[in-house]
Amino acid sequence: MADLGEKIKKLGFGLMRLPMKNDKIDIEQVKQMVDLFLEKGFTYFDTAHVYNDGQSEAAIKKALVDRYPRDKYQLATKLAAWLGPQTAKEAQDMFWTSLERTGVECFDFYLLHNLGVGRTDSFEHFGIWDFLARQKQEGRIRHLGFSMHATADRLEEVLEQHPEMEFVQLQINYSDWESGIIQSRKCYEVARKYNKPIIVMEPVKGGALADLPEPVADILRRAAPEASLSSWAIRFAASLEGVVTVLSGMSSVAQMKDNLSYMADFKPLSPDELAVVEKARSALAEIPQIPCTDCHYCLKGCPKHIAIPGTFKVMNDYLLYHDLNTARYIYNWETSSAGKASDCIECGQCETACPQSIPIIKELAEAVRVLEQQ
Ligand code: SF4
Ligand code: SF4
Repeated sequence: MADLGEKIKKLGFGLMRLPMKNDKIDIEQVKQMVDLFLEKGFTYFDTAHVYNDGQSEAAIKKALVDRYPRDKYQLATKLAAWLGPQTAKEAQDMFWTSLERTGVECFDFYLLHNLGVGRTDSFEHFGIWDFLARQKQEGRIRHLGFSMHATADRLEEVLEQHPEMEFVQLQINYSDWESGIIQSRKCYEVARKYNKPIIVMEPVKGGALADLPEPVADILRRAAPEASLSSWAIRFAASLEGVVTVLSGMSSVAQMKDNLSYMADFKPLSPDELAVVEKARSALAEIPQIPCTDCHYCLKGCPKHIAIPGTFKVMNDYLLYHDLNTARYIYNWETSSAGKASDCIECGQCETACPQSIPIIKELAEAVRVLEQQ
């Protein structure tokens, strides 16, 4: 596997769910979290241009960059060329804004944010690949890579076309390991095939695996009553070979302390522990879901460009975890550059194309009820 030349511990601090106070990031609490994290020898921080409308990048300047020597940590951020910019200059300016907001002169890790489907085209369109290669040559980026939430085939396409990418950031968790939509295992295997170091995002599935349906939680609690539910999820991802670090979007000092308690002296899951996780995964898989395989056949003929598989992915998570706030947040993200379920004109073209015979119109109506109506 390619060597990033870093000694990075297996837990990274994801900065997208920072603690809030009066609608603003609670900087004092973030400072405490940063101090604890560094004290235990952890060094990797991951933000993005879009997190909290830029507040996340500004917060890490105050809590970390202004308070610690530059060689004590690695900072990663990301550019989402598909989210807003109308011109190449506007897209490229996102990089300069991130430098200014964070206060560093060089990013240790820089990512093209959330490649896949139509979004990848924006990076081509605005010349971002070449622009970032130049920034790397000129010393403003140490390692260049990308994050992706799409299928293994699409990941392979990008890795084939861009061998210069040094690492990938993928959503990997035990619940989605065999999922036909998220394809955690398949994506992991593609990254390994191309010899790319992996940074794991969403190991706890946006918090869902810390708040499991009771029969599933019971399987984990019986195996280790003292271990938190999220510790199983983070240790699962961190145990995979080729993983540089596992990002956890920590929102409080308490969460940070729990994560540090088992990651400071990280031990990979034993075969017995892996068998317990597999049992929990199978129990989750038995909960009824919309049987969408993310093949995208339905998308080609849809006159309203509705994010059909993305909407079903969100609804499936909602059916499992009943976390409405997260479901609505991700739904807005999924539909930020596509049609919403409520745009459906019931023409039926998608149902003709769907190999799984899903009653798409009916399922979209249910999605409108759950995800869009107040
Ligand atoms: S029925 Fe709705 S979702 Fe299906 S193709 Fe027509 S507009 Fe798109
Ligand atoms: S065609 Fe059916 S299975 Fe394929 S993505 Fe669309 S809804 Fe899902």
